[in-house]
Amino acid sequence: MGRLPFIAGNWKMNKTVEEAIDLVKGLKVHLKGIEDVEVAIAPPFTALYPVAQELKGSSIHLASQNLFWEGKGAFTGEISPAMLKEINCRYAIIGHSERRQYFGETDETANRRIKAAFNHGLKVIFCIGETLQEREGGIAFSVIERQLEGGLKELGEKAVEEMVVAYEPVWAIGTGKTATPEQAEEVHQFIRQKLERLYSKRISEGIRIQYGGSVTPENIKGLMVQANIDGALVGGASLNAESFSRIVRFKEM
Ligand code: PEP
Repeated sequence: MGRLPFIAGNWKMNKTVEEAIDLVKGLKVHLKGIEDVEVAIAPPFTALYPVAQELKGSSIHLASQNLFWEGKGAFTGEISPAMLKEINCRYAIIGHSERRQYFGETDETANRRIKAAFNHGLKVIFCIGETLQEREGGIAFSVIERQLEGGLKELGEKAVEEMVVAYEPVWAIGTGKTATPEQAEEVHQFIRQKLERLYSKRISEGIRIQYGGSVTPENIKGLMVQANIDGALVGGASLNAESFSRIVRFKEM
């Protein structure tokens, strides 16, 4: 069976509760009847609960933009996996490059978060990707390899089985510079081969690998026709119901 395409919207630090509800209402209209593509949205923490309420009965899944690995306690400013589970979050985005770049996230902390997510029944969208300097320095593949090995350390097949990997070249995020479909496909293929070496063919063939980095309604189709690109993690273009829905409906183009 083929891999179900998966389009997720990362709203980052955007949308008040009121704006979030408006956007969700628009998405429900635009995405009515969509069954052959899985859709998730990751609002900021303050909007998660109201958005969860608004999504009741809809096929759009809820994702968090991060989580902390401890269950509870004196960790000011953090959110636990159980808190996210309680409000019907299905996915957690882990290791986003903005977390790595601005908030000290490392392969090791991403690994701790991934383990905590799985232990609480949350699925993970695990983000990896090289910077421009790393690409130009010819070390993009070794960076990807290190991020995969570090992020997935001590995780068994059961844990990675339902994981989603998001390949997001840092130089393409929010810059309007998308990787060409061929550039993205080359890395996606590399990621799949690495997953086969780390786990098995069954795992590597089942796992969905999203591309992220300035995805728009205009460039999604070219990306999605690549054999190893199974979806997209969308930032900027997910903040508008019409543009995000056009991305989700890429098959109709
Ligand atoms: C992202 O936030 O993961 C992302 C890819 O952002 P953008 O689509 O805006 O480049």
